[in-house]
Amino acid sequence: MLSIKNLHAEVEGKPILRGVNLEIPTGEVHAIMGPNGSGKSTLASILAGREDYDITEGSVTYKGKNLLDLDADERACEGVFLGFQYPVEIPGVSNLYLLRAAVNARRKYRGEPEIDAMEFMQLIGEKIAHVGMSMDMVKRGVNEDFSGGEKKRNEIFQMLVLEPSLAILDETDSGLDIDALKVVSDGINRLRSPERSTVLVTHYKRLLEHVVPDRVHVLAAGRIIRSGGPELADTLEAEGYVNLETDNADAP
Ligand code: ADP
Ligand code: MG
Ligand code: MG
Repeated sequence: MLSIKNLHAEVEGKPILRGVNLEIPTGEVHAIMGPNGSGKSTLASILAGREDYDITEGSVTYKGKNLLDLDADERACEGVFLGFQYPVEIPGVSNLYLLRAAVNARRKYRGEPEIDAMEFMQLIGEKIAHVGMSMDMVKRGVNEDFSGGEKKRNEIFQMLVLEPSLAILDETDSGLDIDALKVVSDGINRLRSPERSTVLVTHYKRLLEHVVPDRVHVLAAGRIIRSGGPELADTLEAEGYVNLETDNADAP
């Protein structure tokens, strides 16, 4: 599904990713953990096609294509989804409008006709039930006046509607109460299938108790310094990141 080789990226001349290597096979859920500022959100943003980063070296292959050649819209149409650490508010643009536009953009990209209004509302009705959102909420502006937890639910709702091949969720679990965490983890598990892959960026083991990952990776100072099975998350929780051997003595 996704193959990242020796990825280096910088912002305004400051190196952030310093040679990331990562393979995400189709059908797997991988967690990326790591200290604050290690480059997790940068990696997620680069995969989704945000343009504030300069990629100075390396490659990213998605379903056999050079992902870095595709703009953010094309990536979305190709089935890449990013759930943001800080979901943006778009007052005046309703969640429904945005989702219908996204669904239709993908259909157009594939040469398919637009989704029928009835079919779309049926899809919405089915998915809001999974995340416990009301129709009233989805008619409001995107994340407009949503609480932190509601924004995260909305990210999962969008993901369920769009059914991505590759979902990248950046700290979707942060700041959630137990009920919202359950909604988020159920949503992620619902999409788990042999055809899809998920990358979960998280600080906490909590989410990984509900969504047991196939692999766990530790990103520190812009490199993956350790990979393992789900038990690695337990080790990190017990021991923290400081004890991990790193070869990043040259990090700023
Ligand atoms: P993490 O998500 O692991 O906490 P980030 O990817 O958000 O880390 O940030 C990694 C480093 O890159 C931090 O030092 C951060 O300040 C810096 N950084 C990220 N994005 C930008 C940006 N747009 N401009 C300047 N610095 C940035
Ligand atoms: Mg952070
Ligand atoms: Mg982050």
